[in-house]
Amino acid sequence: MGVELTKRWFEHYPEEVPKTIEYDNKPLHEFLVETATNYPDKTAIHFMGKELTYQEVYDAAKKFASYLQYLGLKKGDRVAVMLPNTPQSVISYYGALLAGGVVVQTNPLYTERELEYQLKDSGAKIIVCLDILLPRAENVKDDTYLENIIVTAIKDYLPFPKNLIYPFIQKREYNMVVKPEHSGDTHVWTTMLEEASGEYTKHEVDPEEDLALLQYTGGTTGYPKGVMLTHLNLVSNTQMCEKWNYKAEYGKETVLGILPFFHVYGMTAVMNLSVMMAQKMILVPKFDVDTVLKLIDKQRPTLFPGAPTIYIGLLNHPKLSNYDLSSINACLSGSAPLPAEVQQQFEKVTGGKLVEGYGLTESSPVTHSNLIYENRRAGTIGLPWPDTDAKVFKPDTLEEMPIGEVGEIAVKGPQIMKGYWNRPEETENTLKDGWLLTGDMGYMDEEGYFYIVDRKKDMIIAGGFNIYPREVEEVLYENELIAEAVVAGIPDPYRGETVKAYVVLKEGADLTEEGLDQYCRENLAAFKVPKRYEFRTELPKTAVGKILRRKLVDEEKEKLQNQ
Ligand code: AMP
Repeated sequence: MGVELTKRWFEHYPEEVPKTIEYDNKPLHEFLVETATNYPDKTAIHFMGKELTYQEVYDAAKKFASYLQYLGLKKGDRVAVMLPNTPQSVISYYGALLAGGVVVQTNPLYTERELEYQLKDSGAKIIVCLDILLPRAENVKDDTYLENIIVTAIKDYLPFPKNLIYPFIQKREYNMVVKPEHSGDTHVWTTMLEEASGEYTKHEVDPEEDLALLQYTGGTTGYPKGVMLTHLNLVSNTQMCEKWNYKAEYGKETVLGILPFFHVYGMTAVMNLSVMMAQKMILVPKFDVDTVLKLIDKQRPTLFPGAPTIYIGLLNHPKLSNYDLSSINACLSGSAPLPAEVQQQFEKVTGGKLVEGYGLTESSPVTHSNLIYENRRAGTIGLPWPDTDAKVFKPDTLEEMPIGEVGEIAVKGPQIMKGYWNRPEETENTLKDGWLLTGDMGYMDEEGYFYIVDRKKDMIIAGGFNIYPREVEEVLYENELIAEAVVAGIPDPYRGETVKAYVVLKEGADLTEEGLDQYCRENLAAFKVPKRYEFRTELPKTAVGKILRRKLVDEEKEKLQNQ
């Protein structure tokens, strides 16, 4: 795949992991078609007690595809999917692809304003959403390109009499909330399944050129942009995942689906990988520590991709020892730095492996990860993946930094996006000579392991010193009284910026500001010691559990303005 095989990181690859892969030149939805053909009776989905086989998922996806075409969908038209992890989210994603559509993943937590922005920007013509989100979709419909809404409910896939177990859901009957002026354009999921033929026109797909997804970036920094991911981008990254976890067997694993599928990480590492490998997915629509511990205990997942805050949440549960987590074999942590403490504790509790990886929306997402079973290095993001080249550039140039020196990490490979949707200038600034400039600062060591120091934008410059929040956070996480911590640079009239730590204590922990300050002074160079502390009961997070540092900084700015 055009990448030289002389990279130093390859020396650490075990025999089982190839340096380069022959990618299947096929559309992404072939994963479902093939698995439904080869493993029709294998359970695809476990959702609140209800199970669906791969054949059932495929049959429903075909119906969805035929219904989209009946509503007028043409090849390349965008379909917004605004759903938490549910059977419908898998069915509509693959159904839209089968029909020739481009999926626009939409965060169900979006406000009307955010939804309107994304629908306008992507030009989506059809949206599928939950009943409780219907008013939001209806309210923005006339200001966007939306022509049709398909509405579904959690209860559509519950296995038991709904009014007994979930009486509250009854009150939210979708048929009752459809606006009269949109009643002709709003379609009910269950009726769609009854009426759709399942026959649809199959379009030719050029996997290298044709888009499968417009994946909007988290929006934690700047305005959200639509990342254009092709079928090959996603097929290749999924195949890389398969080769990396070489011990996972087709049809044998159970995967915990906590990471939302509307985020690129859950979509590739949980949904697409599971569908490709005929694994059983346990769908968790909303992260709740109690529910997840019970699910692990009862459903015995073997694979558990997640993010640091998810593992931290489980480890901090006061009754953790009541649950049996020993089924877990392998976990890949991404999205944010994984504190070494958390890795060790989690491995002790489960007996499985937890390793750190790295990626971003623009790379489908994974580009680096530690190996799961050998040559692991805590505190690093590990090694570049097969066919993935990585370099460290002097910021704003394509000049390579010497080994061990911090610069901007850049990556190249078949998983790198085609560009940003309708933003040629931003594409040009981010993709240079085929290199994706990640906006993350880091370095590579002598052996080819990569380290993320911080996000370019998150580096704090206080009184002329460069401080990377991550370094301070690592120290905070080592304190056994602290459950969660985030460090941000907040405006300061004298130093430009100053370091502030936001801390959540463990239940029952007793730590004063003075005590914490003393601890930081003992463990950090004076210029890195936070000048301010704030204790909170929780920290603001994105859907994948990434702590929203920007939000905290914005709050500080607002406070300053109002003073
Ligand atoms: P997103 O596009 O929402 O997936 O966010 C991608 C960003 O998450 C990257 O550019 C990094 O800043 C951050 N990120 C992902 N994995 C890690 C990691 N292991 N350590 C530190 N930051 C990470």
